[in-house]
Amino acid sequence: MIKDRSCVNCSSQNSEVMFTFTRDFFHNVRNQPLEQLDALGIDDNFTSSIVKCIDCGCGYIKDVINIRETFLGQENWSSAQIKENLRTYQNGFSKSGADNIIYAESVVKNLIRLVMMKNKNKSELSLLDFGCSFSVYSPLARIMGFTKVDAFDPHYPDNFSELASGNSVVNFNFFNHKEQILENAPYDAIICNSADEHFIDPQGEINFMSEVLSDDGVIYFSHPIMDLDSNLKHLQNESNITNKKLIKELRATFHVHHLNYIMPKIFKKMLKKGGLVESKVVILKKENLSESAFHVKNLILYTKTFIKYFLGLFGSNYRKTEYFLTKIK
Ligand SMILES: [Zn+2]
Repeated sequence: MIKDRSCVNCSSQNSEVMFTFTRDFFHNVRNQPLEQLDALGIDDNFTSSIVKCIDCGCGYIKDVINIRETFLGQENWSSAQIKENLRTYQNGFSKSGADNIIYAESVVKNLIRLVMMKNKNKSELSLLDFGCSFSVYSPLARIMGFTKVDAFDPHYPDNFSELASGNSVVNFNFFNHKEQILENAPYDAIICNSADEHFIDPQGEINFMSEVLSDDGVIYFSHPIMDLDSNLKHLQNESNITNKKLIKELRATFHVHHLNYIMPKIFKKMLKKGGLVESKVVILKKENLSESAFHVKNLILYTKTFIKYFLGLFGSNYRKTEYFLTKIK
């Protein structure tokens, strides 16, 4: 347990508690089985609190359940665990998975374009997927032309590289130590997809990514909006909520593994502190593949995409989740 985290944005120690997770809350409100909570070390004395910095207004968890310790200390996976994890990685066809590919392809395409626009003579392209989990980005980037792809996640054991086949045209590397990144840096492109909400030291990790990015490289962040201010009353009242969609959203957003509740305005400042600046506003394609291209659901998606694009052109932070950045010269 890290007991006393200071503000992830301004390092201030002044904060006020907004919400505290307890064993009672997980069991009685979120219906998590007691055995599961025992396994996570969540006992009757457990607390983990989302606080708000009094000085800058940033939200974060002050007393962090140290999942890194648990994960980093773990033994290599057994062959049964490798098999199980491989199955998770290669899970079957799903509609959302297919829709997501359209989007992921658009992200990788834009990265390639932005890197190539800066340096037209590149014959090799390298990519780092920082905080990769079992993401589709690494194999996809390899297929789409990146010559060297490294996927990094410190939460996995040393033998998790066995999940990636070296004897395939879609070969890429799994890393779990930062030294491996440093040995292979700099990178032409970096993807940090919905990972920073898990970082214990987000500013430190942003600085690290900036350090291993090549001088003419491009970095893509997908930074989720987890709006504490507008959801706090729902979170406090979760046991009485009947709207299933809202409950699902609350559970997906607010939990002990989401350590940082950084809104776009502050996040942009942190990127700047890390020496990164937005390079270009791009259009990211989203499409619902089970409907025709001109179905109303898709027309709504396209409209939202264009609204986001135009807001981006004017530098608006409103509901901003995607960032393409280069180093400040
Ligand atoms: Zn602060």
